[in-house]
Amino acid sequence: MSKTPVRVRFAPSPTGPLHAGGVRTALYNYLFARQQGGQMLLRIEDTDQNRFVPGAEAYILEALEWLGIEIDEGPQQGGPHAPYRQSDRKEMYRGYAEKLIEDGKAYYAFDTTEQLDEMRKRMEAAKVAAVQYNAITRMEMTNSLTLSKEETKARLESGEPYVIRMKIMPKEEVRFNDLIRGWVVVHSSQIDDKVLLKSDGMPTYHLANIVDDHLMGITHVIRGEEWLPSAPLHVLLYRYLGWESTMPQFAHLPLLLKPDGNGKLSKRDADLGGFPIFPLEWTDPVSGDKARGFREEGYLPAATANFLALLGWNSGTEQELFTMDELISNFSLERVHKAGARFDIQKANWFNQQYLKQLDDAAVIAELKPFYAEKGIDVTDEQLSQIVHLLKDRVHFTKEIISESLFLFSAPENYDPEVALKKWNEEAVNAVSHLKDAFAAFSGDFNAHDVKELISATMESHGIKMSKIMQALRLAVTGAGAGPDLMIIMEILGKDKVIQRLENALNRLSAQIRLA
Ligand code: GLU
Repeated sequence: MSKTPVRVRFAPSPTGPLHAGGVRTALYNYLFARQQGGQMLLRIEDTDQNRFVPGAEAYILEALEWLGIEIDEGPQQGGPHAPYRQSDRKEMYRGYAEKLIEDGKAYYAFDTTEQLDEMRKRMEAAKVAAVQYNAITRMEMTNSLTLSKEETKARLESGEPYVIRMKIMPKEEVRFNDLIRGWVVVHSSQIDDKVLLKSDGMPTYHLANIVDDHLMGITHVIRGEEWLPSAPLHVLLYRYLGWESTMPQFAHLPLLLKPDGNGKLSKRDADLGGFPIFPLEWTDPVSGDKARGFREEGYLPAATANFLALLGWNSGTEQELFTMDELISNFSLERVHKAGARFDIQKANWFNQQYLKQLDDAAVIAELKPFYAEKGIDVTDEQLSQIVHLLKDRVHFTKEIISESLFLFSAPENYDPEVALKKWNEEAVNAVSHLKDAFAAFSGDFNAHDVKELISATMESHGIKMSKIMQALRLAVTGAGAGPDLMIIMEILGKDKVIQRLENALNRLSAQIRLA
């Protein structure tokens, strides 16, 4: 028998920006689909009109595209099961709810909010542990099980608001084998008579999700752990709809935890920690609140995807850097952990640094150019290329290259006092003034290699050990005691600027030391 082709779906609700957990769910679906030679579809689950947020769907699409998660079927791509937005499929769900009623697996319920409140209060007063609309309580409520056929019909015809509830049979065992968690067994008495069709005619998440997964031929449901409690209900829905034999397999992904590992990661943690948990920046359309995005903070998409892929999965080897293709070939649901994954932004920064190192200099230069222009800094392509070469391996983010390179464009105003105290001694002052003269007399090409030779020869002729004065020289040129290759820095600055800086240092640094 040929294997059914793998079909997975990412099914976000457009209630706001997609957070890191949601993106990781999309990514794992994508990796699994690609590895299995299957299909990945995007379905927008927007049946809860109260929670609809304008802009959220566009945000989701943009975020997936940025990360390189390709969708085979979806609202933009279309496909054999279009439409892929549940609100556009609204009319289709009712038939399934009505079919369940016909089969005795669901019923109409007319209870008002007051009646439901009353029921809850009554049960709480009677100290019932779990207040539920279920096999016992349903018989005291206003529904098609307690009303006569005629009465039900009359109420429906009069246009009285109603919902359709699932009729959970008592004493049923619900079991399924989660690909990550193993066997999950729940007794049906723990499940309440969930609403399937709401009074506005819209299906609830549960009904729409199961109907669509079935119609769209989904073979694996890979989603966040927060949906695990709903899974037994979903299994029952498949059973009641007669679809159990083609039910998808479930894989519930671990939670993302706070940086310290204690509890679920929240937007508050991100705000407090000053790091992003959303792929792209997001401005709340109502409150105007802004949330940071990985993209805007300067993370590279490949680094972000690599970081997210390892939040809950590992390859079983020491390898940490994976291209998307490598992730696809290495990924397996068996190696997804059950335990929550700590969201460590330092790790994301490390990934970014690794990817930045591999990035083509030309790409970095192109990205940086406008930022220098914005700061009013005149910089030639050749200088930019030297700057990128000098700093690329030392920073976590492209933009850091700008802040780290500012010292090249304005001579130091201050000198690190500690280094000055330690290193700016008589010998250093002598050395620097000899070097100033030697540089002034030098007529060759002022490049890193030749400058180094010149320094070495000059120091030798004055009997000064080069190693003893190098930090003082750096201090004079940059104001700091440490940093990137000093010879290249001097090459980028050029002879005149270096001489100027040495002269400044001879005046100001010596004054600074005298004051100290
Ligand atoms: N619409 C649900 C969500 O927002 C989908 C859950 C599922 O994948 O079944 O996450």
